[in-house]
Amino acid sequence: MVSTDPAARAAELRAQIERANRLYYEEDAPELTDAEYDALMRELIGLEETHPELRTPDSPTQHVGVAPAGRFAEVRHERPMLSLSNAFGEDELRAFDARVRRGLGLPAAPEPVPDLRYVAELKIDGLAVSLRYERGRFARGATRGDGTTGEDVTPNLRTIRAIPGRLPEPLEIEVRGEVYMPRAEFARINAEREEAGLPLYANPRNSGAGSLRQLDPGVTASRRLSFWAYQLLDGSGAPGAAPAAQSQALARLEALGFPVEPHREADLDIEGVLRFLERWQEARHSLDYETDGVVVKVDRFDQQERLGMVARAPRWAIAYKFPPEQVETVVEDIVPYVGRTGTLTPVAHLVPAKVAGSTVSRATLHNLDEVRRKDIRIGDHVILQKAGDVIPEVVGPVVEKRTGGERIFEMPGRCPVCGTPIVRDEGAVRHYCPNPACPARVIQAYAHFAGRGGMDIEGAGWAVLQQLLQRGMVRSRGDFYRLRVEDLETLERFARKSAQNLADAIERSRRRPLSRILNALGIPQVGEQTAIDLADWAAATWPPADGEPMGGPEGWTARVARALGEVARDVPGRFEEVPGVGSVVADAIARYFADEATAAILDDLVAAGVEAERPRPRPVPAPGGAGSALAGRTVVVTGTLPGFSRQEAEEAIRAAGGHPAGSVSRKTDYVVAGENAGSKLAKAQELGVPVLDEAGLRRLLAGETA
Ligand code: NAD
Repeated sequence: MVSTDPAARAAELRAQIERANRLYYEEDAPELTDAEYDALMRELIGLEETHPELRTPDSPTQHVGVAPAGRFAEVRHERPMLSLSNAFGEDELRAFDARVRRGLGLPAAPEPVPDLRYVAELKIDGLAVSLRYERGRFARGATRGDGTTGEDVTPNLRTIRAIPGRLPEPLEIEVRGEVYMPRAEFARINAEREEAGLPLYANPRNSGAGSLRQLDPGVTASRRLSFWAYQLLDGSGAPGAAPAAQSQALARLEALGFPVEPHREADLDIEGVLRFLERWQEARHSLDYETDGVVVKVDRFDQQERLGMVARAPRWAIAYKFPPEQVETVVEDIVPYVGRTGTLTPVAHLVPAKVAGSTVSRATLHNLDEVRRKDIRIGDHVILQKAGDVIPEVVGPVVEKRTGGERIFEMPGRCPVCGTPIVRDEGAVRHYCPNPACPARVIQAYAHFAGRGGMDIEGAGWAVLQQLLQRGMVRSRGDFYRLRVEDLETLERFARKSAQNLADAIERSRRRPLSRILNALGIPQVGEQTAIDLADWAAATWPPADGEPMGGPEGWTARVARALGEVARDVPGRFEEVPGVGSVVADAIARYFADEATAAILDDLVAAGVEAERPRPRPVPAPGGAGSALAGRTVVVTGTLPGFSRQEAEEAIRAAGGHPAGSVSRKTDYVVAGENAGSKLAKAQELGVPVLDEAGLRRLLAGETA
């Protein structure tokens, strides 16, 4: 129940905020989202502004964080470590600019004031620390604590490689900045915790804070934390070198060897700041660390000093908060969708909510086990986020908000589309509709066929497909290629021009690389990469002869289709020769091509004039030349390599003629193991597959032997 009496409400809010502070700062395990927390805080600030008599000195609006709870030795900060006031939206930023101008006695906007410049820095969502350097050596490091007293975490900070232990000059300085955990490391640690049955961290910030505030520095060392510096105190180096502004201090920090977040911009007026915000609103999702906003600071130190501070924050800076990554919404319904292969996927229909840059109204709940594990019910308030910043994910229900009217979701006994009884195989997670003619399966199979990764027929969207199928104009995949402009003109909302466009798009799609044709078929277990591997293998096994036509019943496309069928029936195990393909996938490929229905589909396509593009011969590296060491070799990359992302390493291997693969088997030629390599490394050792480090990989890429 929410009190209407302001005093009672203020007390309620304080209690809630103090509890949230404890969970967040002390236990690194928040129960509220940041947005929920910010909303409580704003309500309390608002109440205290309208009722100043309610503002007590111990109100959370008046102090920073929480006092250390005695786990670590205490460190008193010579200068308090403050929080920042928040701004949400353009108006509040303009109001900040107006306050700063007033405070400095400068004319009001829109009058340009060249004397007032702002620095915009990405606000890193980590844990603030203070680092003291004595005679150029890192001497002591502490958390912010309650702003006055922090926790001594020196040994833990020493394990962070980004923090210099020694400076190029024997300076007495204090550097403040943010310790953070890269997203990739966050994902790794949570995966590990999940396997060990430990509770998961809510986000990289809490994971980072939890990792730093460990009594055993060995634990901190095992986690790849990093650091961005953003404040330099007492940096009085050589005469005249003392920075006079934040932008200069950041440059000085960089010169001293501290990592400084590179996307900052200086010399901005408020319009420039707003442009910066707009750009980073989306762009931040591509960074490997979380930012929850932008910190805008008055650049000149003399102006900062004149502006001073309020209770818990400086007046010369503001934290603009991006709209939340996690939001709360309501599950209106849970609806099972039938997929291309018949799998029933429960999908949450949500009250539309904006999260990480887009409005989300649906989120997959994966399968029934997942719905039960998270205990998500129809009618629940739920927390929504984007996993890895991409996929809408329902984190879980807000159990306190349950009214008792929520309904438990059950899988239907029959396919909601065709009525066929639903099957769940013994021990399997998925429920599925076993009817291959189920209209839901059929339309999705056609959508996949015409889609981007397949034949890529531009304009053959859902509505068009539905009509083509319902009216019987398309009864097989080949029928697309038999449609005439006159037929297409009869479609709803089609005129001559749009019909011609679609006919042209269909015509253009007649010739595609073999890999795309294979992918378009929707072979079970075969995705885009496997389709490429299979096509390459087929082209190498049955290369087209000079002058051999690509299309037609006697062409190469038909020949490869027949050959795939023969292998599938006679020597199905041969599909394991395809680089990157293990026995399960090989089996699925064999079953697919052994099926007479598949042969009929392929005949139909060839008869309709579909043909593969002539495969480009793979560059055969000169013996001993660069790349030859990897040509045709299957390589598995595991763990973190210091100089490559996983994707870069795999691209480099591919460029050298090798095949990057996801799992280790007897056919693997090399395993490249980086830091924290796990089960794949163990498997390689067990099977006796040669294991390389990054240097070994580089040697192979350079054409040397490992
Ligand atoms: P803040 O996080 O809004 O801003 C201050 C902090 O920003 C500084 O201490 C510093 O650590 C950090 N920062 C990052 N980059 C910076 C840069 N370039 N320059 C300066 N500072 C930079 O304020 P706060 O008082 O630390 O924490 C309040 C926030 O913490 C809330 O708004 C909320 O997001 C979160 N919080 C959440 C819960 C919860 O239950 N979910 C509880 C408490 C706090």
